[in-house]
Amino acid sequence: KAKENGRNSFCFFSKELSAQVNAKAELASALRHALKDFSEFELYYQPKVSADTGKVVAVEALIRWHHPCLGLVSPARFIPLAEELGLIVPLGEWVLEQGCQDYMRLCELGIRLDHISINVSNVQLDDDAFPSTLDRVLRESGIIPDALELEITESYIARQPGQARERLQYFRDRGVRLAVDDFGTGYSAMNTLQSMPVTRIKIDKSFVDGLPCDSNSVALTRAVVSLAKNFKLALTAEGVETAAQLDFLSAEKCDEVQGFYFSMPVTFDHLITYCRDNKA
Ligand code: C2E
Ligand code: MG
Ligand code: MG
Ligand code: MG
Repeated sequence: KAKENGRNSFCFFSKELSAQVNAKAELASALRHALKDFSEFELYYQPKVSADTGKVVAVEALIRWHHPCLGLVSPARFIPLAEELGLIVPLGEWVLEQGCQDYMRLCELGIRLDHISINVSNVQLDDDAFPSTLDRVLRESGIIPDALELEITESYIARQPGQARERLQYFRDRGVRLAVDDFGTGYSAMNTLQSMPVTRIKIDKSFVDGLPCDSNSVALTRAVVSLAKNFKLALTAEGVETAAQLDFLSAEKCDEVQGFYFSMPVTFDHLITYCRDNKA
């Protein structure tokens, strides 16, 4: 009996495992297919708001994948896979192009935002062709480099600080801004951060979640605020969902806030409406 159970559970496990392997292989082939013409991808935008005035000052581009059968696939699912397969390089290039073009379209519509933020993966940053890709997109889109902010992860600067510093400096020399995303979750040393040519840090949502009541979240947020102030870095808080969180962050002089309290990521058309309503 025990043996039978054992065998059954082995079968069950192996079925599970092979289903997982199949699902991953299927997702990978769907991703390769989608990268042929990019038509299943769309950039959504989440407004970034001035904590002071409540006005939209910038946007963050967040990719969406509409698969004909699988439906909407979350970036949390396909970005890691795209990284693993090296497909993030062409995908990231598309995001950069599309984002800069959309920013220019907003300008033409009279919607002047301070900047657009674009997430870039460590794999993209490590790609030797990335600097020239960036130069090309800047040139072809006509975006002012100062209006483009690349969001990099904290792990990128923690892993190989020397190499990261050199590459980031190349981007800064072109006038592009650099934000450290999800700050406080990636184990970078303070002296490493201090030596990086970055211009902004984004307080991770996990700290914001506990505000304003949880004393650990309060202490961590205050520490990041003072770090940003002393290093003369701009500061964004992500994942703001309540008025109480906003009040706390605003009192702490966090300049920019972003989260469902203001808006979820929306389509480009909805972004236009949001910006127009927000102005009135
Ligand atoms: P991220 O860059 O830290 O983006 C913030 C994520 O939190 C987004 O999830 C956003 O929709 C979500 N979010 C924003 N405000 C709130 C809030 O108030 N509450 C909650 N619960 N969530 C909020 P999303 O769009 O699913 O993206 C997840 C991650 O995937 C991003 O985290 C980023 O690391 C990655 N990603 C998304 N688009 C791209 C891209 O174009 N390129 C690369 N390399 N990575 C991307
Ligand atoms: Mg981001
Ligand atoms: Mg983030
Ligand atoms: Mg995050």
